[in-house]
Order: sequence, then structure tokens, then C-alpha cells
Amino acid sequence: MNRELHELNQKLYRLANMDGLTQVANRRCFDETLEKEWRRLSREQKPLSLILGDIDYFKRYNDKYGHLGGDDCLKKVATIIAKSTFRPADLVARYGGEEFALILPDTPYDGAKEVAQRILDSLRSVKIPHQVSDVKPYVTISLGVGTIMPSLQENMMSFVDQVDEALYEAKKQGRDRLEGIQNNYQ
Ligand code: GH3
Ligand code: MG
Ligand code: MG
Repeated sequence: MNRELHELNQKLYRLANMDGLTQVANRRCFDETLEKEWRRLSREQKPLSLILGDIDYFKRYNDKYGHLGGDDCLKKVATIIAKSTFRPADLVARYGGEEFALILPDTPYDGAKEVAQRILDSLRSVKIPHQVSDVKPYVTISLGVGTIMPSLQENMMSFVDQVDEALYEAKKQGRDRLEGIQNNYQ
């Protein structure tokens, strides 16, 4: 009975926190983790890094390869992103439809940039065909990277907005790249 309860609990936890398609954390889990880490790192006075990623020309990918093809691509990209982080405290989440987010606690800007670069490199080397992309004949991603010293006075959502702006800048600069913000913190 105890074991059954334990297994049921685990199943419930997964259902509540994981994205069914990609098997990474879902948006709910992302929101919860970000708030928790923001408070913890404020206390410990340690940096928090955030990476936001958005697949390039994914609407066209769906149009060309179908919705199921698109779903399959999302799974592959999620796996690649998950493999590019090594620390147990790092969180990879599906942030929206074809958008991913990484929370990297106690990680300075250079470390976060390294993770982002690893994502770009492994996606480039896997070469998932994307015949209708304007960037390359393969699936690519654009990334925004940001680092902050969280504090309870600082607005968490405006930090997320800043990283989102960096992502938008990466799109504007030609996609398949990272752009960052440093918030005066090395
Ligand atoms: P950009 O390079 O500017 O990011 O262009 P984009 O086409 O990727 O961006 P946009 O946000 O216009 O389109 C996102 C598309 O992603 C819309 C939809 O077709 C697709 N999409 C979103 N969620 C899912 C999903 O769960 N499965 C599939 N197959 N496609 C999805
Ligand atoms: Mg998008
Ligand atoms: Mg996109």
C-alpha cells in the first residue's frame, strides 16, 4: 500500500510538473522554480542566469513537415537542450509552444553563455533538416542570455522581459545565435 501510494505520488508529481510532449519541465514548474531560486539566491547573494530560446522559422517547419513532424522536432530540440546542462540545480523547461527556458542558479554570465553556445553547437551538428528556413537548411534556434544578482527589491518579471528582449535581438541580428544582457554583473 505504501509503495503504491509512493508511485502514485511520483506519477502525480510528473503530471503536474512535466511537459507531456518533450519530457522537460512545464511552464508551471518553470514559474515556481524561478520564484524559489530568486528568493534563495537573494538570500545567498549569488547570481542567477536565464536563457530563453525560440526555434527559428518553426511555423514554416510545421507547414512543410506537418504538425506531427513539428512535434517530433520539438522533442529532439528539447533533448539536445537538456543534454547541454550538467548541474542538478539547472532547470530546462518548455516555456511556450516552440520556446524553451533554462534556469541556471549560481551561474555567472560567462557560464551561461557557455551553456547557450553548447546548445547552438550541438543543434548545428545534429543537422535536423529544415528545407524552408531562411537561415540554414537545418533547424536552428535563437537564444537570449541574461544574468542578475537577484534581490527582493528587484523585479523578477522585468529581468525575464530583458532576457526576452535579448532573444528578440538575436532574431533581429539574423537568428541562429545568442545575444546577452549582463546587468552590470560579471
Ligand atoms: P521565428 O524565427 O521568428 O521564431 O519564426 P517562427 O515561425 O518560429 O515563430 P512564430 O512564433 O511566428 O511561430 C511559432 C509556431 O510554432 C506556431 C506554430 O505553428 C508552432 N508551434 C507552436 N507550438 C507547437 C506545438 O506544440 N507543436 C507543433 N508542431 N508546432 C507548434
Ligand atoms: Mg515563438
Ligand atoms: Mg520561433
